[in-house]
Amino acid sequence: EAADILPPLLVLLAAPRGFCAGVDRAVEIVERSLEKYGAPVYVRHEIVHNRYVVDSLKAQGAIFVEELDEVPDGVPVVFSAHGVPKSVPAHAEERGLDYLDATCPLVSKVHRQAERQVEAGRHIIFIGHAGHPEVIGTFGQVPRGEMTLVETEEDVAKLEFPADTELAFLTQTTLSVDDTHAIIDALKQRFPQIAGPKAEDICYATSNRQAAVKVLAPQVDLVLVIGASNSSNSLRLVEVSERMGTDARLIQRGDDIQEEWLEGVGAIGLTAGASAPEVLVREVIDRLSRFRTVDEQVVTTTEEKMVFKLPRQLTD
Ligand code: SF4
Repeated sequence: EAADILPPLLVLLAAPRGFCAGVDRAVEIVERSLEKYGAPVYVRHEIVHNRYVVDSLKAQGAIFVEELDEVPDGVPVVFSAHGVPKSVPAHAEERGLDYLDATCPLVSKVHRQAERQVEAGRHIIFIGHAGHPEVIGTFGQVPRGEMTLVETEEDVAKLEFPADTELAFLTQTTLSVDDTHAIIDALKQRFPQIAGPKAEDICYATSNRQAAVKVLAPQVDLVLVIGASNSSNSLRLVEVSERMGTDARLIQRGDDIQEEWLEGVGAIGLTAGASAPEVLVREVIDRLSRFRTVDEQVVTTTEEKMVFKLPRQLTD
């Protein structure tokens, strides 16, 4: 057996990795809604950015759509963890739809800050990735024109505002910690009076997973990140590793791993984005075990204890 002649493969498992409290809650909201209301339950947008999670909920009777117009009258609809513009629950209410909001409470917190800053007369500079559903949802908390998106330090250099404009900044929750600090520094340089949160709004799960990769990457030849290509926090984990000089690959499933990736590799770092379930971590280790004997070790950088409450509709 090839597995016997080759040296064992050391797999360092990042901890924390995978599901965060917001994703746990969102998935549970769909599952409990299915129990309470029976199938079908509609979900607007992928509940979390992971194909495996979406497919397993589909198998239980969830139907995923992109817009509310696709939801028939009289059936419950769940809004995804990324949050929605205010117009979406407003539209649901107009139609008399029963809706459950799976927006992560940490995203909702940013929504409320956005409203408050605009009420205080400030224009918001939002640091985030164009087109991401969380960004669309946060922009949809304030009237059009009250918020400007920046993605890079170069974008900050290009900003132009009348001298008396009062400004505030807010951020997406799943950004690169390092890039975001650099962008905030650039904003404070250009607009010393800018208001903002004490720290950026990057969530605990995003920063803990990035910090864990920073510890792992120097100890391994390759980092594997389980996550979807539209998962912002997963993409950032690949970047963190590459910037430390360690090759990294984003994979969705165990089958994605090619045997030649392991040529000359003695140690692998394994992590998973906040929307990737632990079952996929086991699947990846099983796949690696087909090529080499795996010596698995957990590297713990932080303990996470965050839990979010379910919406009242599901706990009463
Ligand atoms: Fe909430 Fe962060 Fe998880 Fe997004 S990644 S759902 S903001 S805890």
